[in-house]
Amino acid sequence: MKTYRIAAIPGDGIGVEVIAAGVEVLQALAGRDGSFDFAFDHFDWGSDYYKRTGLMMPDDGREQIKGHDAIFFGAVGAPDVPDHVTLWGLRLAICQPFDQYANVRPTRVLPGITSPLRSVSGPELDWVIVRENSEGEYAGVGGRVHKGFPEEVATDVSMMTRSGVARIIRYAFRLARSRPRKLLTVVTKSNAQRHAMVMWDEIAAEVAAEFPDVTWDKMLVDAMTMRMVIKPQSIDTIVATNLHADILSDLAAALAGSLGIAPTANLNPERAFPSMFEPIHGSAFDIAGKGIANPIGTFWTATMMLDHLGEPAASARLMRAIERVTADASFHTPDLGGKATTRQVTDAVIAAIAGDNA
Ligand code: NAD
Ligand code: MN
Repeated sequence: MKTYRIAAIPGDGIGVEVIAAGVEVLQALAGRDGSFDFAFDHFDWGSDYYKRTGLMMPDDGREQIKGHDAIFFGAVGAPDVPDHVTLWGLRLAICQPFDQYANVRPTRVLPGITSPLRSVSGPELDWVIVRENSEGEYAGVGGRVHKGFPEEVATDVSMMTRSGVARIIRYAFRLARSRPRKLLTVVTKSNAQRHAMVMWDEIAAEVAAEFPDVTWDKMLVDAMTMRMVIKPQSIDTIVATNLHADILSDLAAALAGSLGIAPTANLNPERAFPSMFEPIHGSAFDIAGKGIANPIGTFWTATMMLDHLGEPAASARLMRAIERVTADASFHTPDLGGKATTRQVTDAVIAAIAGDNA
């Protein structure tokens, strides 16, 4: 029997609650399937670890997880640790060295969930956002001089390489080709950012020539936010820079009903390093410890991990279980307007897995 070694990094706040739920659901799924199993190694890295040690993860942290089949990540962020410390110290400290350059973010209105958009009744909103995840605005290039003085100057340089842009655009075209509508929108801001973003547009046109069967268009990011609200049906696959896609995907998650259901995969498509799977949301300290975090984003994330591991049947089984549970409003957590707890949603998904006879 195949055993997948998973590095579980719950992190902070509700990250701990949703990863615990996700591990239970994955174990139930393996038990139901019978042909594979999971071995979870838990790592207590995050803000509490930082307060004890001054580091978000140990110096040899990446060594400890580089042999795992996948990384199952919760969220980081604490009220008393600066956000740039938690983000750079753990999440980006894994994504960048492991070259997880493709951040894939599916968005769909699940059964039983209502989009805040009047024009959307469900299946018309079915998008995948592909986020460049290794450079751009989050390259970490920049600095501050004369810190704290009136003449202070600070920069965050958006660094784009031809190879980095080409590989993410090619990844997005391939993904668009695999979807029924074969439609891709390339998002930039090349009217105002006239160097890197113009290069991005040029590369998009070059790569597009390799995909004559994919219909593609270009959109400025500000106009894209409008199109997502006004003409959601006109969109299928989106590719955008690190910052732009970060923002667009929170909007997408809200339009699909809640940030609490949105999943993401940080992929190293060449599989030289493990890929990392996480819900989009953060540590949500406003609701942490209350047992009401929506675990659906983490469960959906787990389906992406199963696809990546090569278990499409188990992935489909989990997605069916998720959709059976969201369809029943008595299993909606407060972010969806309901009263259900993380425990109740998790139990309902486990019961749906057990009762799935397909
Ligand atoms: P957040 O995603 O944690 O929360 C935003 C809002 O959505 C909150 O009202 C929260 O209660 C709600 N929410 C989020 N996930 C939910 C879920 N599963 N169920 C129910 N409600 C949910 O974003 P924030 O409040 O801007 O940030 C909180 C902390 O998380 C900050 O420290 C931030 O830096 C960090 N953060 C981390 C990540 C990450 O680790 N990938 C992502 C975003 C934010
Ligand atoms: Mn974000």
